Amino acid sequence: MKYSNCFVPTLRDVPADAEVISHQLLLRAGYIRRVTSGVYDYLPLALRVLRRIEAIIREEMERAGAQELLMPMVQPTELWEKSGRLSKYGPELLRFEDRHGHQSCLGPTHEEVICDLMSRELRSYKQLPINLYQIQNKFRDEIRPRFGLMRGREFVMKDAYSFHADDESLMAEYRNMFDTYTRIFERLGLRFRPVEADTGSIGGSDSHEFHVLADSGEDLIAHCEGCDYAANVEKAVSGRDAPAGDAAPLTALATPAVTTAEDVAAFAGVDAALVIKTLVFCVSGGDADGAIVAACVRGDDQLQAVKLIHALGADALEMASDAQIEEIGGVTGFVGPLGLDAPVYMDAGLEAAVGMLAGANKRDLHLTGVDVARDLSRAQFVDLRETRAGDCCSRCGGQIALSRGIEVGQVFALGRRYTEPMEVQFQNQQGKREVATMGCYGIGVSRLMAAVVEQCHDDGGIAWPDILAPFSVILVSMGKSDEVLEASEDIYRQLQAAGVSVLWDERNERPGVKFKDAELIGIPLQVVIGDRGLKQGVAEFGRRGSERQEIALSAVVAASMAALSAGSGAAL
Ligand code: ATP
Ligand code: MG
Repeated sequence: MKYSNCFVPTLRDVPADAEVISHQLLLRAGYIRRVTSGVYDYLPLALRVLRRIEAIIREEMERAGAQELLMPMVQPTELWEKSGRLSKYGPELLRFEDRHGHQSCLGPTHEEVICDLMSRELRSYKQLPINLYQIQNKFRDEIRPRFGLMRGREFVMKDAYSFHADDESLMAEYRNMFDTYTRIFERLGLRFRPVEADTGSIGGSDSHEFHVLADSGEDLIAHCEGCDYAANVEKAVSGRDAPAGDAAPLTALATPAVTTAEDVAAFAGVDAALVIKTLVFCVSGGDADGAIVAACVRGDDQLQAVKLIHALGADALEMASDAQIEEIGGVTGFVGPLGLDAPVYMDAGLEAAVGMLAGANKRDLHLTGVDVARDLSRAQFVDLRETRAGDCCSRCGGQIALSRGIEVGQVFALGRRYTEPMEVQFQNQQGKREVATMGCYGIGVSRLMAAVVEQCHDDGGIAWPDILAPFSVILVSMGKSDEVLEASEDIYRQLQAAGVSVLWDERNERPGVKFKDAELIGIPLQVVIGDRGLKQGVAEFGRRGSERQEIALSAVVAASMAALSAGSGAAL
């Protein structure tokens, strides 16, 4: 491709609304443009990268025995009623009515549609196991679309669904997909970590997420420095010392206008670990829908809301209003678990705590000497605290460290969560009807493009790994003499004939402009042809970001091919 024919609208300045580096660079280097909130155009360079990511995913999915299909983006909402997920999924599901009054939605994921298909087509155990996948646009009306392609509303996903006669077969495929994801992310050249994950609104038993390690990641992941335990903090369990309070009788402590756990601890002159922090929520979804509940963790801990949602079997939580707190006998700022007219969930680490300080449910008053076993026997004890760096690993006792991650994939062993209500049945070997068991496996294809840029960039711009670059070689003509242009065109044709994808910068621009653009858009190999070198029959050749060497013009094609195959076995 000639540069002057290529649509690459680069920008000189960093766009003001782009916070993370991948968003900035993809805009600046002319890869993407925003259409509306969370919705983007993929310009030609971006589409080339996207296609390369997709090719690797397809290759590995086919190698793993999965088959590609394509399902529609528009889904009838009645399928979501049937699966029981319509109310659970909430406002992220974009719903609309067609001219005939039929209710539809834009697919945020496809469990319902594929189960509907399988319920009609699956007959015998002989058709199982089967794994079907697609690469397609999804729509989720995210509350806070941000970071460009990282959290869009419309985005590209690879989603796969497997069906099995029994759970043993499901778990074998779960491991197969786990290994396939590992291979895909390795081939993409990413630093990543698989972690145990919460199953979220999708449901099911086992789940792992794959995280690309990057400071800009929205997820916090905990991993052990001593063993291979790793989990999203939404799920991570870890240990630490019990609070060391001394048994004492319950005593009122005047705490005028002192409300937060830290302030109360400082006011009373005790460690924050000796304070019971109480939060009050209004529950939506599940059996406790509409209830007001209290949740307690140690003053030096944070409550992990996802754990509480799980303990309640709920869909979501909202902080209770002052009026709702009053309804259950509490006073905002001075809420404590004693005497509240609401279910109390306490972090399991508090079960044997004594000599604790808690809100007294009266203005400007706290209680000291709280003995959890003695005073709170009606509370439910579950793991609610968020794992912290320095905690001890509940598997091996090693140290827990925290890092930030970008979730680029997730695998789920769903079991019969969807196949049961959607009636995906087959005839087993004994001739009896049975419900199939199911797994699902997603990869954020467009998010991956952003995640790669987060890991692969420098001050000059994007540094694509060879395997993903939109072009492998940028051929820069320095000067506008006929000799330079002719020699460049000759090399350009030779590279194309050898199957090397090449972008020829034949523009009538200053060398500085050309080199800046080459760096910014991130083409891995550079070939430079100028008047001076031409006289000696040489071109400059080198990798982006390192020094170029002079090589004979006749050696350019072979050198390019050698560099690319040494790099990563990339497609040329
Ligand atoms: P998140 O927790 O980031 O919202 P999720 O767990 O809801 O994601 P899944 O249902 O597991 O997402 O979807 C599969 C993959 O699709 C995710 O691992 C992620 O890489 C990608 N993905 C999900 N939501 C978005 C989004 N809004 N924009 C871009 N990619 C997304
Ligand atoms: Mg996920």
